[in-house]
Amino acid sequence: MKVIVIGAGIVGTASAWFLQKAGHEVTVIDRQPGAAQETSFANGCQISVSHAEPWANPSAPLKLLKWLGREDAPLLFRLRADMLQWRWGMQFLKECLPSRAAHNIRQIVAIAEYSRQTLQAVRAETGIEYDAETRGILHFYTDEQEFRQSLPAARLMRELGCPRQTIGADDVVRIEPALAAIRNRIVGGDFTATDESGDVYKFTTGLAQRCVEAGVRFRFDTTITRLLSEGGRISGVELIDEHGRHQRVQADSYVLAAGSFSQQLAKPLGVDLMIYPGKGYSATYEIKEADRAPHVSLTDDGHKLVISRLGNRLRVAGTAELNGYTRELNPVRCEAITRRTRELFPDACDYDNPVYWTGLRPLTPSNVPYIGKTKFPNLFLNTGHGTLGWTMGCGSGRAIADIVSGRHPDVDFAFTGIATREARPPLVTLPART
Ligand SMILES: Cc1cc2nc3c(=O)[nH]c(=O)nc-3n(C[C@H](O)[C@H](O)[C@H](O)COP(=O)(O)OP(=O)(O)OC[C@H]3O[C@@H](n4cnc5c(N)ncnc54)[C@H](O)[C@@H]3O)c2cc1C
Repeated sequence: MKVIVIGAGIVGTASAWFLQKAGHEVTVIDRQPGAAQETSFANGCQISVSHAEPWANPSAPLKLLKWLGREDAPLLFRLRADMLQWRWGMQFLKECLPSRAAHNIRQIVAIAEYSRQTLQAVRAETGIEYDAETRGILHFYTDEQEFRQSLPAARLMRELGCPRQTIGADDVVRIEPALAAIRNRIVGGDFTATDESGDVYKFTTGLAQRCVEAGVRFRFDTTITRLLSEGGRISGVELIDEHGRHQRVQADSYVLAAGSFSQQLAKPLGVDLMIYPGKGYSATYEIKEADRAPHVSLTDDGHKLVISRLGNRLRVAGTAELNGYTRELNPVRCEAITRRTRELFPDACDYDNPVYWTGLRPLTPSNVPYIGKTKFPNLFLNTGHGTLGWTMGCGSGRAIADIVSGRHPDVDFAFTGIATREARPPLVTLPART
């Protein structure tokens, strides 16, 4: 079967890899000149199955109110005259109900665990080098109350099978000695030895290269402007190719993996995806003193930052702003990241030459992605991976290849449009338009 995959981020590229393995003739189309040029470019690089708690949880509404209008808020809603943003916000509030949050955590842990195993298998099979570290993820707290409040989440993760161990401050520094400079401020932490980290860009571009060698075609610098439908099926895509020419191309099936932009491509078809962009920042520093920089991937709870060592670079990422599709760099946020990293690891890195970046997380209100079918029998979704697209990417690619091939994936997850024990809410549909 001919399959077009829309988007060459981690999710689209992993989809292409497993689709070609399933015997399909795959073309990946992306508007950028190469794979992983948008949100999968410079993220926090954690494979964090153990931190599957979505932003939408019972404590979120109060925190959000407190943070409204605060420039340095970890999660900042900039309210706009934007219907999608308001509808997304209302759904987010519903997902904060304890029963919804519990359901969502189970979903995320299931697909994330499956995905980590899939990533490990792909790594073993392909030998892709991506500065992978398998030393676990260490979450440290500098605020007593936040630490206490984290205990139930850690307990829940253990119930779901994640070995997330609550530990004291001395153990935090024993696991990551580079944190010694702030030992007296650490009040506790948790550590999950099975979590990992690694450069998502290196992995995705490496996998894209392996895809090409296996026969997948990539069409870069090619923007899809519209999905066409006829007789209840997708009949093709309209695009502008690398020479600026308008074209229509066809396949038997289509996988939508366009990250934050999937919503805009699906909506005219009456497939209403609740995906809103959540802008986040990262900073990358060259490491000057190898022993003073952390090896274990870290989460700094007080500043909502994640820190991953990528060979001789240190990646620090975080913050979220719901403010439309802008990727503008706010210098205040950039400097705050450098200030905090310098405070944690003085002299470890070249802090005078940071490389700053922003990306748009494709956020669903629940942080549970859309993976599965639509009302069009030949249109499939693999999108909306929000804060955990690297963590869930490989498994999502493997799962969608199964679904496109008519098989049920080997993971207990509420796939879109497929009956499971715990069905997810149906997609809201609008009148069809070609
Ligand atoms: C600051 C930050 C830190 C993060 N940290 C982590 C982390 O530590 N761990 C983790 O698991 N996740 C993390 N994430 C989330 C993760 O990066 C994303 O979930 C993931 O990259 C999404 O991948 P994707 O393939 O769905 O989207 P993308 O990587 O954005 O890929 C979508 C592709 O579609 C293409 N496209 C879009 N529209 C069109 C069109 N019309 N025509 C052609 N092509 C199109 C784009 O060019 C793009 O290449 C972080 C995100 C941010 C912003």
